[in-house]
Amino acid sequence: MTLWHDYYLAQSVADALHALRAHDGQARVIAGGTDLLLDLEEGDVPPPVALVDVSRIEEMTAIYRQGDHIYVGAAATHAQIVGSDLLREHATCLVESCGVIGGPQVRNVATIGGNVAHALPAADGTVSLVALEAEAQVARLDEEGHIQRSWLPILHLFLGPGRSAVDPTRELITAFRFPARMPHEGSAFDRIMRPQGVALPILGLAARVRLTPDGQRFAHVSLCIGPAGPVPFRAREAERTLEGQPVQAEEALDAAIESALQEARLRTSKYRATKAYREEMVRVLMRRVIPRAVDRAQGA
Ligand SMILES: Cc1cc2nc3c(=O)[nH]c(=O)nc-3n(C[C@H](O)[C@H](O)[C@H](O)COP(=O)(O)OP(=O)(O)OC[C@H]3O[C@@H](n4cnc5c(N)ncnc54)[C@H](O)[C@@H]3O)c2cc1C
Repeated sequence: MTLWHDYYLAQSVADALHALRAHDGQARVIAGGTDLLLDLEEGDVPPPVALVDVSRIEEMTAIYRQGDHIYVGAAATHAQIVGSDLLREHATCLVESCGVIGGPQVRNVATIGGNVAHALPAADGTVSLVALEAEAQVARLDEEGHIQRSWLPILHLFLGPGRSAVDPTRELITAFRFPARMPHEGSAFDRIMRPQGVALPILGLAARVRLTPDGQRFAHVSLCIGPAGPVPFRAREAERTLEGQPVQAEEALDAAIESALQEARLRTSKYRATKAYREEMVRVLMRRVIPRAVDRAQGA
């Protein structure tokens, strides 16, 4: 069975966007192909005439700091992210989440941009990028064929399960950026996975916390839980419940867990878990991940 006719190895963002334009909606971006090839085989996406491979575009694989932000190219592989000392320091949760995706073969080719563009609410790298309050750079060509780039809050990219606001037949996610880690900040990620599970977790949770200068209270909290709704879920009520509270207060964490359970849209899924089990796992993960982020923020 032929799944596509032409395979185009793009050398630059301009190159990729012009290749997409030349096919007028009949070509599609491919990065590692670990989601897309399955989707094509199963008929979940229409077969494109051409695939435009973005995995060799230098600017899309770069990981660096510029000013107060950390930049991660959308075609950076999970293995690259796990191996980055810069990200270990500034985005510990992202390193932890990319480190559990698939096995080594998958992590060597699968990319963070593909993880986000596939638009599943439980995707591990995505959950951490949301907790890091990342923005995504989306590039497209205007009428005259000039590249237009815009930075969007990452949650703006998600329309529903498997539905991205980025059209991979005409647009590219080129990079992500998020604020560099400040003093008294820390992050953590963990997930609950079936032992024999290969793709998505039963539940994942990422937290980023900033503490007051004495390290005793939450100044700012950002939490992402997935899957807890049709798009990656930012637990904003739970964040507000924690902010201003002492980090050691058990009752504050208990109240935040109750807030998260109230606002989350957990559901039973046929292959992974019941709603009741997921509720219990929200409790487990919040009690595990938030104190770990606090320890890191305190410099432990
Ligand atoms: C065995 C196995 C285990 C897995 N385990 C996990 C897991 O534990 N956790 C998890 O979260 N995922 C897992 N996955 C899913 C998958 O590996 C990840 O989602 C991966 O990050 C997808 O990246 P990719 O580069 O392979 O994307 P691709 O398959 O190349 O692309 C996915 C989609 O995104 C589009 N796209 C890709 N890059 C861009 C871009 N830069 N701009 C715009 N659109 C783009 C494509 O057109 C396609 O629609 C697993 C997959 C396999 C096969």
